[in-house]
Amino acid sequence: MKLNLENVQLIKNDLSEELLDHYSSQDLLAVDCEMMGLIPQRDKLCLVQISDSNEKITLVKTEPPHKAPNLKALFENSKVRKIFHFGRTDLAFLYHWLNIDIKNVFCTKTASKLVRTYTDKHSLKDLLKEILCVDIDKNSQLTDWGAPELTKEQIKYAASDVLYLIPAYKKLIELLKRENRLEIAEEACAFLPNLAKLDLFGYTDFFAH
Ligand code: MN
Repeated sequence: MKLNLENVQLIKNDLSEELLDHYSSQDLLAVDCEMMGLIPQRDKLCLVQISDSNEKITLVKTEPPHKAPNLKALFENSKVRKIFHFGRTDLAFLYHWLNIDIKNVFCTKTASKLVRTYTDKHSLKDLLKEILCVDIDKNSQLTDWGAPELTKEQIKYAASDVLYLIPAYKKLIELLKRENRLEIAEEACAFLPNLAKLDLFGYTDFFAH
């Protein structure tokens, strides 16, 4: 599986009705976000990337005043599972900037930590390298995602961040089943939207004494 830029569409602000219908008909979607930094209250949400199982990828460039009713409808649709890698941050940004109270979330980093206990390497790059034997280029991670025009390199990077998430999800589900940890993984992922809200409210280490 290699990135085909012909499958990648860059649009502004929100999904069209047609894209909303298309993605709403899917069981699984891979989702990722790019922001100006890591603090939701300070740093803008710049890009929301979506891929379906056929690698139809849409990059939604979100700009002020950050209104995306169709993205909200898609992400709040509990019939469609949204797969993230380290969803905790993305969820906080989606909630803060687009008022999205996401439903039916899965996080490949959470799953990886629960099942790949033989390693502490749970970055997307390390995970994909091991379980799918693909090496993704992370060189554009720390670039200006708020620029009016994204570079070709940024577009490739943003698309490749969602391209492999559904295959990784399927592989992780197999591993979780094998190790009898699917149920705890599902429960941990189901709590992520609440964890993201607690993060936004300023609670740190919520479960500490
Ligand atoms: Mn990303």
